Amino acid sequence: MSVMDKIILANRRLGFTGLSMRDGDIASSNPRSALICQENSCLWPKSVDGFVYVPYIISPFYDDMDRITIETGMLDILSQTCIKFVPRTHEANFLNIQPKRGCWSFLGMTGGSQTLSLQTPACMWSGVASHELMHALSFVHEHSRSDRDTYVTILWDNIMRGQTHNFQKHKTYINTAYDYNSVMHYGRYAFSQDGEPTIIPKLDPNIPIGQRDGPSTSDIHKINVLYDCGG
Ligand SMILES: [Zn+2]
Repeated sequence: MSVMDKIILANRRLGFTGLSMRDGDIASSNPRSALICQENSCLWPKSVDGFVYVPYIISPFYDDMDRITIETGMLDILSQTCIKFVPRTHEANFLNIQPKRGCWSFLGMTGGSQTLSLQTPACMWSGVASHELMHALSFVHEHSRSDRDTYVTILWDNIMRGQTHNFQKHKTYINTAYDYNSVMHYGRYAFSQDGEPTIIPKLDPNIPIGQRDGPSTSDIHKINVLYDCGG
């Protein structure tokens, strides 16, 4: 079982009230509304110095290894983009990173304190931290792209009952090649009902999907485009 599949299994047990999960791990505070932020909206503001500061606080319940894992997930993004994750001092809008149940995030900047959950030890991979941080930066899953049917086959019959909404498509605005290697792509057994695959790459069924080592070259490129890091 891959890291991704373990995490999806952990997230399936999410049973807290007040929040609902869309697309597996994207939180919504109002279960009846659609996502307030669509992809690529609700961006974190750009500072006059050209950087995009994303303040965070991190729960004291993490141990040193957990903190290093989470900070490595941040470093893999900030070392290659104009995003700067910075410890919060006084900022009104910030990420509140906590070991709640499961690995999940809100989409984009919601305003105020926004929880980003990285359960320990279930979510303690730097690539999982990068994945949730990319949701907080406003990115949806790679296999949710509106053009995904050209690149992957969704095996609807293999998806567990009540979970097909996790495979809906979203309008995407950044014109990049489909990226099987994206840290935002689900693995092939995501939400499988019976251990059979739910996502199969079309061009070559053996292409690996669902890696959680860290952001791909294309993931980094998309962050740089969305936040206009070159300009
Ligand atoms: Zn996700």
